[in-house]
Amino acid sequence: MTTDHGHPAVRMYIAGEWCHGGSGTTAPIVNPATEEAIGEVPLATPADLDRALGAAEEGFRVWRATPVAERTAILHTAADLIAERAVAIGRVSTLEQGKPLAESTGEARRTAETLRWHADDARRAYGRIIPSEPGTVLTVRRQPIGPVAAFVPWNFPVGGPNRKISSALSAGCSLVIKASEETPATAMELVRCYADAGLPAGVLNLVFGEPAEVSAHLIASPVTRLVAFTGSVPVGKLLAAEAGKVMKSSLMELGGHAPVIVCADADPVQAARKAAQAKFANAGQVCTSPSRFLVHESLVEDFTAEFVRAAEALTVGDGLAEDTKMGPLANERRLKAMERLTADAVARGAKVLTGGERPDRPGYFFAPTVLTDVPEDADLLHEEPFGPLAPILSYGDLDEALATANALPYGLAAYGFTRSAATAERLSDELEAGILSLNHCGGSVHEAPSGGVKDSGYGREGGPEALDAYLVTKRVSHLLVP
Ligand code: NAD
Repeated sequence: MTTDHGHPAVRMYIAGEWCHGGSGTTAPIVNPATEEAIGEVPLATPADLDRALGAAEEGFRVWRATPVAERTAILHTAADLIAERAVAIGRVSTLEQGKPLAESTGEARRTAETLRWHADDARRAYGRIIPSEPGTVLTVRRQPIGPVAAFVPWNFPVGGPNRKISSALSAGCSLVIKASEETPATAMELVRCYADAGLPAGVLNLVFGEPAEVSAHLIASPVTRLVAFTGSVPVGKLLAAEAGKVMKSSLMELGGHAPVIVCADADPVQAARKAAQAKFANAGQVCTSPSRFLVHESLVEDFTAEFVRAAEALTVGDGLAEDTKMGPLANERRLKAMERLTADAVARGAKVLTGGERPDRPGYFFAPTVLTDVPEDADLLHEEPFGPLAPILSYGDLDEALATANALPYGLAAYGFTRSAATAERLSDELEAGILSLNHCGGSVHEAPSGGVKDSGYGREGGPEALDAYLVTKRVSHLLVP
C-alpha cells in the first residue's frame, strides 16, 4: 500500500503483524529535498509497546530453540531479498533521508552482505573446554542474552537498523527496534525482507513513537536484557543511565568529531581529495565523518586549494537526480545547526573559502563549506558538525597536532596521512579513537569492529566482536560422577 505521494504506507510490525498501533496518532514524514510531507508514521501507545515486548519474549523462546543452521538459512534468505530489493529500498531511503540514490542503493547492498557475514559468524560463536580435574568437564558457553531493545537514528536508514537486527538475530536474540520516525518506511521495507524470509512471528518487532517515552518504557521492562543505541552522545548517556538503573547491559554507538592529521611528508593533493570525498558523503551526516582537518603548515596551502576545488566540484541536489553527488541535510534541525555553527565561527574570525550558506531553493540544502582561521573557541571545533562543514587548521609539529586531535572528549574515528611507517605507528599508538584509517578515509566494513572510546561510547559493531554484546558467557563445571 502507498500514500498519495507514492510512498509506502508505514506500519509497525508487532508479533508478526503489520499494524497502525492503538493511538491513531501519527507524525509527518518529510522529503528533505522538497520539504513536502510524503507520508505519516504511526506512533505507538504503551499498550503497543507491551504487545511488542510480549511478542519478543515469546519470540526469544522460539528463536533460541531454532537450530542454528535453520536460523542461518532464514537470515541468508532475508539477505537475498534485501539485495534483490536494494534499488527499491534505496529509493524509499533517498526520499526520506535525502542522500543520493547511488549511496542509498549501495547502503542496501552492503546491508545484505553485513547480514550474511553476521549470520555465518554466529555459527562459529564457540565456547571452550578447559582442562580440569579428572571426572569434571569445565566448559565456557556463549548464549544469547535475550530480548533486545534497539534505537537507531536516521542517517543510515537501511544499514543502521540492520546492524542491530543482524547482530541480534544471528546471536539468537529477539528484538524490539525503534527506528527513526524520520526514515520509517525504509526501516519497514528492511523488516519486510526478514518477515518475507520466514522469520517466526515475534522475533523481530518494529515500533515508532515519541523517542523518550518509547525508550523509557522498553528499557524499564523486565523483558529487555540489552539496550542497543546509535545516536548522539547526550541521548546515549541518558539511555545508558536508564539501563544502569535497572542493571541492563548496553551497547552505545555515539557521535565523534574525527580529526584528520596530514603529516609533513604526505601528498597534500591526494590527502585533500580523499578527505573531501569522505567529508561530503551523506552530506557529512556520518558518525565517523572527518570533521577537523589538521594540516602541516608546509602543506596547508596546497591541501586547502584542492579541498576547495573538490567541494566546489560537487553537484548538490535532489538525491533522486542522476548527477547529484550531495543531497540535502536530512532535516531542518541539521540545516539550522549548519547555519549556527558557520555564523559562530565567522563571528569569531573564521574565513569561509567556499559555501557557508543554504542555496536559494526549497529543501534542507547547505553548500559544501570550507573554513580557515577558525579560532580554538569556535563551537565548530568542539561540537560534532554532522553536516558538510570542513574547518582546516594548520600545525607546526606532530605533538601539537596529536594534542589538538585528542583534546576533545570524543574518540570515535581518526585519520592520518603520512608516508613514514614510524609516523603511522605513532598515530596508531597515540590517537584516542576506536577506528583509525591511515592514508585513506574508508568507511565501516562488516569484517572488522567499529566503535568508540571516551564519550563516543562502548561496545563494537562489525567483525566477530559484533556478537559480544548479544551473547552472555556462562561457566559450566560438570562433575561426571556425583
Ligand atoms: P538527537 O540527539 O535528538 O537524536 C539522535 C537519535 O536518537 C534520533 O534517532 C532520535 O530519534 C533518537 N532519540 C532522541 N532522544 C531519544 C530518547 N530519549 N530515547 C531514544 N531515542 C532517542 O539528535 P538528532 O537531531 O536526531 O541528530 C543530531 C545529532 O545526533 C548529531 O549532531 C549527531 O551528533 C548525533 N547522531 C549521531 C549518529 C551516530 O551514528 N552516532 C547518528 C545520528 C545522529
